[in-house]
Amino acid sequence: MNDLLRFRVKEDSKVNLDEWDPDDTRPFSDDKEQGRDRLQHLCSLLRDLQEVLYAERKHKVLIVLQGMDTAGKDGVIKSVFKEVNPQGLVIKSFGVPSEEELSRDYLWRIHKNAPEKGKITIFNRSHYEDVLVVRVNGLISHETWKKRYVQIRDFERTLHEEGATILKFFLHIDKKEQKERIQKRLDDPEKNWKFNPGDLKARALWREYMKAYEDAISNTSAPWAPWHIIPANNKWRRDLIVASLIADALDQLNMKYPKLDFDPKGVVID
Ligand code: AMP
Ligand code: MG
Repeated sequence: MNDLLRFRVKEDSKVNLDEWDPDDTRPFSDDKEQGRDRLQHLCSLLRDLQEVLYAERKHKVLIVLQGMDTAGKDGVIKSVFKEVNPQGLVIKSFGVPSEEELSRDYLWRIHKNAPEKGKITIFNRSHYEDVLVVRVNGLISHETWKKRYVQIRDFERTLHEEGATILKFFLHIDKKEQKERIQKRLDDPEKNWKFNPGDLKARALWREYMKAYEDAISNTSAPWAPWHIIPANNKWRRDLIVASLIADALDQLNMKYPKLDFDPKGVVID
């Protein structure tokens, strides 16, 4: 676990993303084959942990995935949770808010999707878009996004005090890696559908996005809802780190199957 703590952002630290290497290979510098085996083992472990989470119905878990386009938010969902019983998982993607959503406060649509007992909810994008894309595109004032950091901290603390375990991941790729991944989407007819011209607009604002991410992560990483900055230029290593961190957090919940109010040995089936 100590090896994994290096990905966690301490409360009140000032994040400079230039100091976080998206190619960092530690602590999993082993070869890809070994990495795959390890990931498979972790996926099975996650399946078992989620099974108890579901049976116990005591804890609730929220995973927040953020990152630039192509950073691997969908990829993490697909590979890290592939063994988990879909009944215990809720995946919620947040896109451009609808008119109904825009006419409420920005946390309205988020809170409605907060995790329930026994479930793991994954946010593919989240309320953080409301201090990222809207800030970078000047859709809200400086005063408004500044205030939101405190609002988000309080909101997440409330969820935590009400029993939620919250883990936030920023999938950190660099601009060069993104170019290659977007190019692949253009070159491969089966990936064409993933290309969105809007991604190029965000790409052109890369520096501004990194600044917005740095501020968001610095201001909202807290013991009750820590941020992790995941080196994500390499996909299997990215998955391995995320899976390890989630498995570790679930393991620490010391979950148990519920106590029975009957003796299974005394049950006779005709
Ligand atoms: P995707 O994740 O590729 O489906 O894209 C979703 C798009 O919705 C991204 O361009 C996000 O920046 C955008 N988006 C998500 N949340 C918000 C928000 N609160 N305000 C504006 N745009 C958003
Ligand atoms: Mg996209």
